[in-house]
Amino acid sequence: MRYEPVIGLEVHAQLLTESKLFCGCSTQFGREPNANACPVCAGFPGVLPVLNKKVVEFAIKAGLATHCQIAHWSILARKNYFYPDLPKGYQISQYELPICADGYVDVDLDGVSKRVRLTRIHMEEDAGKNIHEAHGDSSLVDLNRAGVPLLEIVSEPDMGSSAQAGAYLRTLRAMLQYLGICDGNMEEGSFRCDANVSVRPQGTSALGTKIEIKNLNSFKAVERAIEFEIERQSDTLTDGGKLHQETRLWDEHREETRSMRSKESAHDYRYFPDPDLLPLVIDEQWIDAVRASLPELPAARKSRFISAYGLSAYDADLLTSRKDVADYFESALKIHANPKALSNWIVGDLFRVLKDKKLDEQLSIVTWPVSATHLAELVQLIDQEKISGKIAKTVFETILDSGKSPQAIVSEKGLEQVSDSSSIEAAIDQVLAANGKQVEQYKSGNEKVYGFLVGQIMKATRGKANPHKLNEILRGKLKSGE
Ligand code: ADP
Ligand code: ZN
Ligand code: MG
Repeated sequence: MRYEPVIGLEVHAQLLTESKLFCGCSTQFGREPNANACPVCAGFPGVLPVLNKKVVEFAIKAGLATHCQIAHWSILARKNYFYPDLPKGYQISQYELPICADGYVDVDLDGVSKRVRLTRIHMEEDAGKNIHEAHGDSSLVDLNRAGVPLLEIVSEPDMGSSAQAGAYLRTLRAMLQYLGICDGNMEEGSFRCDANVSVRPQGTSALGTKIEIKNLNSFKAVERAIEFEIERQSDTLTDGGKLHQETRLWDEHREETRSMRSKESAHDYRYFPDPDLLPLVIDEQWIDAVRASLPELPAARKSRFISAYGLSAYDADLLTSRKDVADYFESALKIHANPKALSNWIVGDLFRVLKDKKLDEQLSIVTWPVSATHLAELVQLIDQEKISGKIAKTVFETILDSGKSPQAIVSEKGLEQVSDSSSIEAAIDQVLAANGKQVEQYKSGNEKVYGFLVGQIMKATRGKANPHKLNEILRGKLKSGE
């Protein structure tokens, strides 16, 4: 019996608001413990929550971008459980009547489009943090994160492989970043994902027993954990075992999931509408206003990159999958309008460097090792035939090391391309004279030696000869039999 996987993802996106969901406390990351706390988010008795309007606006944005229905009437609910980082004893979330429902995200994977339906998007507050290390027998509680606004984005079980799950997550993250509502940083936890995985006999349609995986801190972790689970579940069933619904934790180091607890169900939380908060009423006008404010989203930007700049779908996809990368590309383009060359440098050389330095997922574009201005200047020097493509690679490496401008590097190291005919001719004459045998071979029909001769001439000019000029003169000389 062969098994096929079924995957549904629950994403928690931390919103880029200045203040928390129900109080005026700052959401600033990395402050001293409990610097961002007040009686409301610390759960003192008698306080009242006030809903942050910006959060509602951000939720509408996310809902519209993902083709959801926006509810004109939705409810904030208490989800009751006890944990030291949750001082109220309940989390304010949404249960029945979430703000957004029934949407979808179209995901492109290797040129094939796959639609992943969204069950719902709802608003909720984050919990604080328990700190267990460094204090002997006691644990400490930091409430800076308590009450920070989150969107929970729940997909239908529509994905059939870890690659699809990864592509969906990347697409969703890009959308939130484009909307400017979440920074999408998985390592810092501002974009978190729980993966639900089940398997079923190939070709059947009933859903199998679902396992929820937590503690996934990177795209790689999500993909690996899903793969591990698919195999573990298939093996268990093949061996005649049974699966029961549970929550498992991904162990990054051992590369395996292990059981954390059997899954609680919704009724364990005793959800009920929060009596301190009125139903949230959103009129059509507000929705229209938010719709009118939506920026260009990744899919639209990708099509524009293809149609306006003549890029391949593959390159356009790579460039637009992160907003900061797309912005970088377009600001370089403003300085020097050669989209194809710029795209090649970014997708090729720059991405390789970022990968080597393990900077690709986290680094903000501001601290990229090559600025958009410098990259544009570099391509400009090539297009103006001031340096060859080959020399440009050297210049690029030097920018990485020194941060200097391409022009400065070219001047300092004397890398300007030689275009004046007489000095190129001198180098050619010298090489032809020293390689009489190869010249004879060429003349008797061995075309391959041509490349060898060009190589020798380039070497003689330290790579600086203008290739057009070089070819023109060399062909002329070989033809005329000089
Ligand atoms: P729960 O009640 O445990 O929260 P839900 O039905 O609300 O479960 O689903 C939570 C997530 O799990 C959703 O993303 C959903 O798509 C996914 N899911 C539900 N059933 C399955 C299944 N059998 N296999 C894989 N994913 C599933
Ligand atoms: Zn507060
Ligand atoms: Mg659920």
